[in-house]
Amino acid sequence: MTMGAIYPRRKAKLQPMSGIYVHIPFCVQACTYCDFHFTTRLSDRNAMVKALIGELRAQMPNWSEHTFRTLYFGGGTPSLLTPSELAEIAKVAHEEGQWELNEWTVEANPEDLNPNTLAALKEAGINRLSIGVQSFQPEVLQWMNRIRGNCNAKQAVEWAAEAGFEHLSLDLIYGVPVGDHRRWEDDLETACNLPVDHLSCYILTAEPKTAYGHQLRIGTLSAPPDERVLDEYATLCDKTKKAGFEHYEVSSFAKPGGRSKHNSAYWDGTPYLGIGPGAHSFLDGCRWWNARSNARYMKSAEKGDFTTQRDSELLDANDRFNEALITGLRRVEGVDPKALLKHTGLDIQSQSKLAALLADGRCEWVNGRLRIPEAHWPLADAITLELIK
Ligand code: SF4
Repeated sequence: MTMGAIYPRRKAKLQPMSGIYVHIPFCVQACTYCDFHFTTRLSDRNAMVKALIGELRAQMPNWSEHTFRTLYFGGGTPSLLTPSELAEIAKVAHEEGQWELNEWTVEANPEDLNPNTLAALKEAGINRLSIGVQSFQPEVLQWMNRIRGNCNAKQAVEWAAEAGFEHLSLDLIYGVPVGDHRRWEDDLETACNLPVDHLSCYILTAEPKTAYGHQLRIGTLSAPPDERVLDEYATLCDKTKKAGFEHYEVSSFAKPGGRSKHNSAYWDGTPYLGIGPGAHSFLDGCRWWNARSNARYMKSAEKGDFTTQRDSELLDANDRFNEALITGLRRVEGVDPKALLKHTGLDIQSQSKLAALLADGRCEWVNGRLRIPEAHWPLADAITLELIK
């Protein structure tokens, strides 16, 4: 069944286009490096589904002038919910809003995928799966604390392709402190030979409140040297290019037609509604976010008032300028200085450090847009910091 058959496209002429993100805050176990919001207390699952639906019903009337095009279930581990629970949440989102849905992504861990589940996810109307593989090597998965049962990630991806999803994406991590350079080449080789049209490849970062951060602090482990991480990045750019992927954002690689529409809209500054604990929303220059606490979130749902657990900030011109650079300079298209000036009143050309960045090649002008060349993307955050206000 196609997505259009399940969620008929309503004739919607309203603007602007928007997206919805739903955060599913459950995981079976904590990965060594993860500081996302989640709990391993799966017993709250039913109450959480009800709470998510409650927040959707409360929020959607505020978005009546928007047309939603993308729906994204992230986490946590959305694949811990059943396909019918995911469909139940999506159905409410659809009933309460105007839609021209063209991408519904669900993040899934490979161990949750089997032919029956995949068929049910497809039947629910999901057309894009983002599969959290991270590595195909048992040694690396062991260190990441991602071994669950007898999972064969390659097999799970092949089943997903056989199930007929329109788009498949894999998450991979490099710059890990175990294994050698060969392991990253092997992971890339495997990923590039699978029938997927998108790869998200992240450099491992050591967040302070994670097991990895702790291991570095107490000295039981050392982070890989920068040269090795840069070497792995070069291998990544080379292998994905040869396999026909376009490197369109620092961490994102797509075959033709495979770019993530949801994330691209987010990087474009499109308004988005975030549902669930810890989820962020953005509309009319205002950003707000839910508390990173399942208990507070579900209590709000019981009271029917989500506002008390929320925080917000109004973005001024400087914030909007910074946000546009932070998201724009991560992309192959870079930033349009004229649009930036129009939307913020601030001129990127007057930034004092720009001349030096252009002179040493860390920034470049291409077709009137400012961007960071691919070779310098691993340092994109540091370069952007020099330009923001
Ligand atoms: S499965 Fe994902 S969200 Fe859950 S702990 Fe691991 S990395 Fe974090």
